[in-house]
Amino acid sequence: VLCAAQDFDFFYFVQQWPGSYCDTKQSCCYPTTGKPAADFGIHGLWPNNRNGSYPSNCNPNTPFDPSKISDLKRTMQSVWPTLACPSGDGTAFWSHEWEKHGTCSESTLPRQHDYFSAALNLKKQVDLLNILQNAGIEPNGNFYSLNSIKGAVTAASGFTPWIECNVDESGNGQLYQVYMCVDTSGFNFIGCPVFPKGRRCPSDIEFPSF
Ligand code: 5GP
Ligand code: 5GP
Ligand code: 5GP
Repeated sequence: VLCAAQDFDFFYFVQQWPGSYCDTKQSCCYPTTGKPAADFGIHGLWPNNRNGSYPSNCNPNTPFDPSKISDLKRTMQSVWPTLACPSGDGTAFWSHEWEKHGTCSESTLPRQHDYFSAALNLKKQVDLLNILQNAGIEPNGNFYSLNSIKGAVTAASGFTPWIECNVDESGNGQLYQVYMCVDTSGFNFIGCPVFPKGRRCPSDIEFPSF
């Protein structure tokens, strides 16, 4: 029997710092379930190719179906909260992530439940906030070197992350998203085959409170 077609090479597991989503010119809206914890939240689990390209919106025949992940909903509300406006309960965010990205990893994570469970499991494996705080990097509005942030995550997890910065209302570059790479099974962190293309971070970046 032939193996299922392998239509991507690895995943980016992307987490967002809520303080950096919210302190921007665009601002944010807390979910209908209330202000999320001051912790990194999941943004997504994104299939990607070694050459930097990535598939998206792969299967219109498997739309997001909240009834398939009802047992995960409470956990998702706490660790995968939505901060976009207008306020929502997360369903629109998760639906977008499934339809854009999750439908492209159906070769290894065929069911919506597998896909979301994999992301929740990855979040538990690497506690980014704890890792940074143990290295003296606190979400208190101070500035930290990009190298110290990357070094702390590398030392604790064994893998070098990619940091995406954005800017606050005053124009300060800040820690917005952390990218880590995961093998196609969705279970094991790996060294990134390629880092995302994106603008550089300044050498010192703010870690705002939330
Ligand atoms: P942005 O343009 O804000 O960086 O990204 C917009 C969206 O494009 C992301 O939320 C994500 O859905 C997708 N995206 C951006 N960069 C990458 C990437 O390197 N790999 C994958 N798989 N998706 C990406
Ligand atoms: P991506 O950038 O993954 O393609 O798309 C993110 C989409 O999800 C955008 O349409 C954005 O408005 C929506 N969204 C809802 N909640 C959030 C959130 O908390 N963070 C981010 N980055 N996008 C969110
Ligand atoms: P180096 O290769 O010396 O670590 O970094 C070269 C440049 O790439 C740095 O000046 C920095 O701006 C950018 N850079 C390095 N690592 C990252 C990262 O994780 N995220 C972003 N956005 N830029 C980075």
